[in-house]
Amino acid sequence: PQIPTVPLNNGVQMPVLGFGVFQVPAAETERAVSDALAAGYRHIDTAAAYQNEEAVGRAIASSGIPRDELFITTKLWVADAGEENAKRAFETSLRKLGLDVLDLYLIHQPFGDYYGSWRAMQDLHRQGLIRAIGVSNFYPDRLVDLIDHNDVVPAVNQIETHPFFQRTADQTLMTELGVQIESWGPLGQGRDDLFTNPVLTAIAEAHGKTVAQVVLRWLIQRGVVVIPKSVRPERMAENLDVFDVQLSDDEMARIATLDTGASTAFDHHDPASVH
Ligand code: NAD
Repeated sequence: PQIPTVPLNNGVQMPVLGFGVFQVPAAETERAVSDALAAGYRHIDTAAAYQNEEAVGRAIASSGIPRDELFITTKLWVADAGEENAKRAFETSLRKLGLDVLDLYLIHQPFGDYYGSWRAMQDLHRQGLIRAIGVSNFYPDRLVDLIDHNDVVPAVNQIETHPFFQRTADQTLMTELGVQIESWGPLGQGRDDLFTNPVLTAIAEAHGKTVAQVVLRWLIQRGVVVIPKSVRPERMAENLDVFDVQLSDDEMARIATLDTGASTAFDHHDPASVH
């Protein structure tokens, strides 16, 4: 399948659907990413903190897919925050991934000296080593602060976004600022019985689709980039098969009622989440 792309604020095209590898053990990651690439994924989301960048790199290398058809994201971990640390950490990630240029580099969490990290990332971007730079888990206050006091507006903010925590007000702000919203945990990490939710199940049945497909489609129709994770090839294919269905305004409105306004993973306003 041909996966549509969305233009970022610097013109770089980002596939609206990718494959996430959070919590995929390093020993399983090469096989999972190879299967995902074979299924048709071209956008992979990893992070230094996932400890599987080398395995992602091996899968990319053995795929034979031309580099310009791939979109690879990795993230800078909190322990590597700061201008010099961030440059070193980026070099390590690039080497582990076996790449010359990274498509998207994100600050994983807004903790530590992320101002220093951002200056390093602006430099690496100017040097052409990273095509787009962005952030993750930035709430509106920190996002606006970073934008107001730096040169480059983040191309992306990757945040928890799913039917139970929809982030529509945050999305509106990001759109105004030119920051693309990307969902982590698009399937709510399977929490709160998402896959058997009655509203989602009814909509899925009406289209002959699965709940996972309806949720991914709903996000994409909202303009959200999605990176679902599954290590099972049949689910990888299922999660990719969302471009032949269109949800109605009424269905979009019914899913809107599922928003609780609260994270199902963790609370960034809890001081304990910083450690
Ligand atoms: P997800 O919402 O993608 O849910 C994944 C789980 O859903 C899987 O473990 C699997 O059990 C289940 N699943 C997947 N497809 C299914 C299907 N078709 N039918 C039934 N069950 C299915 O959760 P995630 O992996 O946490 O999030 C996706 C990606 O987002 C991650 O892999 C990672 O790349 C990224 N992420 C980023 C952050 C961050 O802080 N930036 C945090 C979490 C995740």
